[in-house]
Amino acid sequence: MNGHVSHWIREIDAGPGTDTLDGSIDADVAIVGAGYTGLWTAYYLAEADPSLRIVLLEERFAGYGASGRNGGWLTNTITGGQDGYAATHGREAVVRFQLALNDTVDEVIRVAEREGMDAEVHKGGSLLVALNRAQLGRARALERHARRWPEEGYVALTAGQARERVNVAGTLAGLWQPHCARIHPAKLVAGLVAAVRRRGVRLLEGTRVERIEPHRAIAERGEVRASVVIRATEGFTANLKGEHRTWMPLNSSMIITEPLPDAAWAEIGWAEFDTLEDLSHVYAYSQRTPDGRIAIGGRGKPYRYGSRTDNDGSTAASTVRDLTALLHSWFPTARSTPIAHAWSGVLGVPRNWRATVGLDRTTGIGWAGGYVGTGVAATNLAGRTLADLVLHRSTAITDLPWVDQRTRRWEVEPLRWVAAHGIYGAYGLADRIEARGGARTSAIARIADLIAGR
Ligand SMILES: Cc1cc2nc3c(=O)[nH]c(=O)nc-3n(C[C@H](O)[C@H](O)[C@H](O)COP(=O)(O)OP(=O)(O)OC[C@H]3O[C@@H](n4cnc5c(N)ncnc54)[C@H](O)[C@@H]3O)c2cc1C
Repeated sequence: MNGHVSHWIREIDAGPGTDTLDGSIDADVAIVGAGYTGLWTAYYLAEADPSLRIVLLEERFAGYGASGRNGGWLTNTITGGQDGYAATHGREAVVRFQLALNDTVDEVIRVAEREGMDAEVHKGGSLLVALNRAQLGRARALERHARRWPEEGYVALTAGQARERVNVAGTLAGLWQPHCARIHPAKLVAGLVAAVRRRGVRLLEGTRVERIEPHRAIAERGEVRASVVIRATEGFTANLKGEHRTWMPLNSSMIITEPLPDAAWAEIGWAEFDTLEDLSHVYAYSQRTPDGRIAIGGRGKPYRYGSRTDNDGSTAASTVRDLTALLHSWFPTARSTPIAHAWSGVLGVPRNWRATVGLDRTTGIGWAGGYVGTGVAATNLAGRTLADLVLHRSTAITDLPWVDQRTRRWEVEPLRWVAAHGIYGAYGLADRIEARGGARTSAIARIADLIAGR
């Protein structure tokens, strides 16, 4: 199976509903995009003020974007990193941000329980493994980083301790942190849809918004006039009029196996369902599912010319081959288990790699996104923040450093295409060089970091 949105979406059999926008309607809040950002924003607004008329406008169906396709890491990452924010906002603000994200992981779990969502949550922490000498060097640097930012929770593990958690072939060392859970991405979407519908939020699917103007979301067959319009389109934002260069849509691809036999699990371990990643530059992430599969993802073909975004997740054969080879190198015992499904999705990357959330009071337009592949938890914090901003509430989360961040826009084409492909080509090359045994991070990767603006 290739494409068809994702394995997760197919498992819950999701598809468009019949309620679409036809004509013009009035609302208090119109939200464009029914991924986690849009859904969490609607959820907290409806919770706080049940009298609000909230309309969610979705081009395809809830969960069609990254929210229905991701790796299922509900984790506490500060997108863009602590050090950058410390330079602009000071250490204390970063610590508050980190603690808020740690708590966000638990908030999602609390709401999922309270609302009876079956999101298959396992909070087993997150394991990072170093698989060659250059990666080991970066693991040591991360240990030093972790001592500067203990709130994130990372502790160093020996190779033996890491392999006891998950037996990844070739592990030389690891780091682990507790503020992370694996989830079933699409089941969280479905649970949120049910929760917002119970609160009277109107979800209009099959409704593509063409442009957002002050107090208006204008779609093909009508418009919503509202005091506030929230842009929650993340990786698809480039398709909206006037937003072409706001966030670059980067592709991420995944494969998932059929269930592995018990003998394989006896060898691999992974009893705590930690999320799992390595320290390669191209970056790979993985989870074990409750029904005994391994899902593993990586960058694949990073970017399509002109910021084009989607074809229902269909994935190049070369990407499927690369991810399968990676899976087998981590877990040789998985060679005899077939790959069940491959898919891709887009995530939004701001020029400074920092996620942002905000509300412009003069236009009534709010936004959140630019999570660069770390939005599963951050969307919840964004949703709560947007709800507070819309309701004019000044709270502990409305002055976190990511609120109202503005950054410059991406370069025009063809520069953007050349840069994106050049950067990821360079990361791939650096990984191949390091795999041959060099002890230091390849200079090629350092240069790619500089060009990328990370
Ligand atoms: C393959 C992959 C793996 C990932 N893994 C992880 C992970 O393990 N952990 C993590 O934290 N993050 C991960 N991410 C990122 C994470 O999934 C996203 O940050 C998060 O889901 C963003 O949610 P969102 O609601 O902002 O955007 P989306 O879920 O993309 O939702 C945007 C919605 O807007 C709709 N839309 C777009 N344009 C319009 C329009 N013009 N009119 C109406 N509707 C529109 C889309 O159809 C879509 O449903 C991953 C992403 C991908 C692609």
